[in-house]
Amino acid sequence: MQADFEDYHTALHLAFPFVEGRDLRLLLDQIQVLHAFCREYGLPHVVSIYPEDGTQPFDYQVGNYRALAQLPLDAPLVLCFRHRNTNLEPVSQAATEFGSLLCDGIGDAIMMECDTWSAKTYTQVAFTILQAARVRISKTEFISCPSCGRTLFDLQETTARIKSQTSHLKGVKIAIMGCIVNGPGEMADADFGYVGSGVGKIDLYVGKEKVKTNIPTEQADQALIDLIKAHGMWQDP
Ligand code: SF4
Repeated sequence: MQADFEDYHTALHLAFPFVEGRDLRLLLDQIQVLHAFCREYGLPHVVSIYPEDGTQPFDYQVGNYRALAQLPLDAPLVLCFRHRNTNLEPVSQAATEFGSLLCDGIGDAIMMECDTWSAKTYTQVAFTILQAARVRISKTEFISCPSCGRTLFDLQETTARIKSQTSHLKGVKIAIMGCIVNGPGEMADADFGYVGSGVGKIDLYVGKEKVKTNIPTEQADQALIDLIKAHGMWQDP
């Protein structure tokens, strides 16, 4: 991830040879030639296909990276994203492009460009995408159900409240589920589960095992924190 994309891109141009073109086959051939050249002379380098003007359709760029990943190159592959003026807002667009590739194990680094993002937004978006693809875990992972007629508490408000107290626990997975009917079965591989068991009542889980039952809601947040502490996974913020 690079916060200042233009500076980084300029530095890359100065440091490494670039080839330009829209013919993918030709581009891949040129990349292989340059890669061989860099290897022969011991030049550190990365490989990438920079989205030239940001107007290419989503599947075009993803397809390019898949083709690049097929080449027998032993240099890091950098995935580049440029926001295009489509109806899809930039975070969704970046997540869609990077997500499918990263989940398939393609890409060693990501680089992004969006006119409307601040440096802080770049960082937040990058780490969120990397975490969602499970290639770099940097914060707590939350799993929550979509809520339905069975939901026994305000899911959004409860999730926000628990997040505010536990979002610094790097690598810990916490599930917040609205009911015990389907919640425990849908917690995936969460380390801890916070599940509505009745009106104003919460059950707590460690993995798939229920360890506390019918805790009054007003005590449940602290009980969850105590449980995380008891399992050695708590860190002070
Ligand atoms: S876990 Fe329960 S409350 Fe949540 S969506 Fe599923 S059935 Fe509804």
